[in-house]
Amino acid sequence: MDPLDIIDNLHNIKPVYQPIVSAIKHDVIGYEVLGRYDNGNDLVSLGTFFHDEEVPDEFKVEVDQHLLKIAMKEMLGSEKEEYLFINRNAKQLMVNDGEDLLETLLLFEQKGFSMNRVVIEVTEHDFDEEFEVLSHLLQYYKTFGIQIAVDHVGAKSSNIDRIRQLEPHILKIDTTIIRNQNAEGFQDVMYSLSMLARRIGAALLFENIEDDFQLHFAWKHGGRFYQGYFLAKPVDHLVSKEALTLNLSKKIAAYVFREKSLVQQRLHLILLWERKVRELQPKWGGPKKVDGFIDLVKDRFDEESFRMFICNSDGQQVSSNFRKRLDVWEVESDQKGSNWAFRPYFLENVMQMKTTGKGILSDNYSDIETKEMIRTFSVPLTDEYFLFIDIRYSFIYDHECLLV
Ligand code: CA
Repeated sequence: MDPLDIIDNLHNIKPVYQPIVSAIKHDVIGYEVLGRYDNGNDLVSLGTFFHDEEVPDEFKVEVDQHLLKIAMKEMLGSEKEEYLFINRNAKQLMVNDGEDLLETLLLFEQKGFSMNRVVIEVTEHDFDEEFEVLSHLLQYYKTFGIQIAVDHVGAKSSNIDRIRQLEPHILKIDTTIIRNQNAEGFQDVMYSLSMLARRIGAALLFENIEDDFQLHFAWKHGGRFYQGYFLAKPVDHLVSKEALTLNLSKKIAAYVFREKSLVQQRLHLILLWERKVRELQPKWGGPKKVDGFIDLVKDRFDEESFRMFICNSDGQQVSSNFRKRLDVWEVESDQKGSNWAFRPYFLENVMQMKTTGKGILSDNYSDIETKEMIRTFSVPLTDEYFLFIDIRYSFIYDHECLLV
């Protein structure tokens, strides 16, 4: 469509609202406003207009201002005070120093549309150019109570530093990347993003959710808000919970049930493993006979483990490595005397075991030697000696409760 046709026919331009749903309230708490052109038959997306670099930014500002005013007017009439999410790129925001947008928002604030209901979505790609100018403008907006969301986080390499500097209220995670159960590579990115969000106090919003797998992923990874066709399509009017394509409370209840069951299975395994070690406890012959003790333990963990050893509370390995290769346990005595205190969580875990007297299962991590995903079950033998049992990947893979 010719950009001039769009500008000359602003009366044909209408907003559509894509509902944003809360994991806390299980209800619609806001809308992302998108632009459509009404050609008499269909509502046509304005995506190409907004993404076309040839279209002057002033045109885009004009269309966006038009959409914004209609949306705010309609939302003023609604009883619930939902959030209004709007998309703005950096260049657009910098036209006239971003004053047009602010003026409109101030005008509506006087009519009762609180500024903190407005969320401006900026994309990470925009950070490449003139980040400092954009950052200053957004900080200025924030002083009015306006909220900032970073759109499409994680789609490309993440500008962690810049997101941190911006301290947005919301990170919008694009779940397109984890469609078709292809989530493994994204797990690590997600882990970093969750940490970042926690540090800067930002909420996670997962968008483009189109199936149950993605919704479950979003829920499991701390998503406070959800958006996507699986929940609701953009429509030309404001909607309530009843318009959602699924019963979110029911969905989440199923996720909770499943998660609780997995945690329970995992805790049962830990108890079982602990019992297996405890039964051998009478055979513990002190630090001089550690290898003999492991020799007994290994037979009881033949299915689960491929490596085990004993350390003292300073992190020093006092036993040989018992290492299973091709179904045969080998004793590697050269590992005796190694110190593992530098490893993440090592001392924390040792002190916890010493204090509680209970075993601990690590999270999944990649073993430096085998490069395989493993977990370590550690258990206190005395106040001073601790047994580490590395659980092999094939066992983890066979037990869903250990995969997560
Ligand atoms: Ca957006």
